[in-house]
Amino acid sequence: MMSDELRQALVRDVTATIRDVPDFPKPGILFKDITPVLRDGPLFARLCDHFAGLVRGSGCTVVAGIESRGFLFAAPVAARLELPLALVRKPGKLPWKTRSMSYALEYGTDTIQMHEDAVRPGERVALLDDLLATGGTMSAAVSLVRELGADVGLVGFAIELGFLDGRQRLTDVPVDSLVTF
Ligand code: AMP
Repeated sequence: MMSDELRQALVRDVTATIRDVPDFPKPGILFKDITPVLRDGPLFARLCDHFAGLVRGSGCTVVAGIESRGFLFAAPVAARLELPLALVRKPGKLPWKTRSMSYALEYGTDTIQMHEDAVRPGERVALLDDLLATGGTMSAAVSLVRELGADVGLVGFAIELGFLDGRQRLTDVPVDSLVTF
């Protein structure tokens, strides 16, 4: 795992680099734009190091990313650690046999899918995404991984919107977020 000092420096630099975009994708939402972090090669590398350290420390044997910004972190971390990479996708994107999980939104429902063999019984999965808001997406991903017979050993985010209290939907898994607003 990254030292406390390195982690604090990373928190500071990521916080300073994220761009706030008001009213995107709709009025009233303050969008946390990570593309300036991706533009900063050394900073992006440190963020991937941070996630790799978390995953290594968790003892997870598979890294899973949530479409689409979760892929940006899950893929380099899986490659770095030479672990299997699993994809959690929006409906209709995966070509083979899928399992689905639906979850409630403010208005209506949303669905995520994984390939049936993306994770296997007995595996320990680290789920990564860029941002924790209400926790609806991630808690559905946790349920889907469990339905496929695997355990969830870590849920990791770069950013957490603490005021939305998404953690209250993730009480039975270890949760880490780097930067909290
Ligand atoms: P939720 O299911 O409410 O936790 O929403 C999480 C997903 O929505 C993540 O994949 C985020 O990328 C995205 N998201 C939600 N709110 C924001 C925000 N304010 N800024 C950027 N992304 C967001």
